[in-house]
Amino acid sequence: MQNEYSRFCFVSGSPAHEGHFANVRNYVREQHGDVAWQNVLKELPRQHREEVETAIAVGWYEVAHFAQMLRTVDRVCGRGDLSLLRDIGAAEADQDLNRVLRVFLRVLSPSQIFKVEARLWSHFQSAGTWSSVTVPGGVDATLRGWEVDEALCEELAGYLVRLVQFTGGKAVTVNHRVCRSKGHDRCVFEYRFNER
Ligand SMILES: [Zn+2]
Repeated sequence: MQNEYSRFCFVSGSPAHEGHFANVRNYVREQHGDVAWQNVLKELPRQHREEVETAIAVGWYEVAHFAQMLRTVDRVCGRGDLSLLRDIGAAEADQDLNRVLRVFLRVLSPSQIFKVEARLWSHFQSAGTWSSVTVPGGVDATLRGWEVDEALCEELAGYLVRLVQFTGGKAVTVNHRVCRSKGHDRCVFEYRFNER
């Protein structure tokens, strides 16, 4: 069973949108150059490398392979501590959400974006359920039953930071202490921000 991994990208207006593998490739090429991207591909097992090329062409892929690519990019272009992945998530949101969608997001409050994300998620993901509660200074968003992989969580955390910023949230931070990859039964993303 494939878990098709794409949050907003098919909403962005083009059915031929290349998806998240292509977003990450674009990020690496723009920020680190084509040589860095070639180095990422070289680091991947041959079978996965072929899947990356197929995924960019057809837009679906195994989420575990996406996670492996994220880890490889973090190692080749970052420090190997997954800290680059929040930047990558934010860069993906930049690529996924065109100008028109960003205008739409501006009418939402930072808190509302999590309700929208919860509804859209099920259209693009075969697993995982969101719930969110407003807390002083932000929102605690909980994801249950999704992948168990810290790399995916870090990338997602960064993606959602950008969505909060698109709605007008300022000084956005996210803490991801409670995580299935650390043995908890759910993933909690603690977003804190100043409202417009
Ligand atoms: Zn997590």
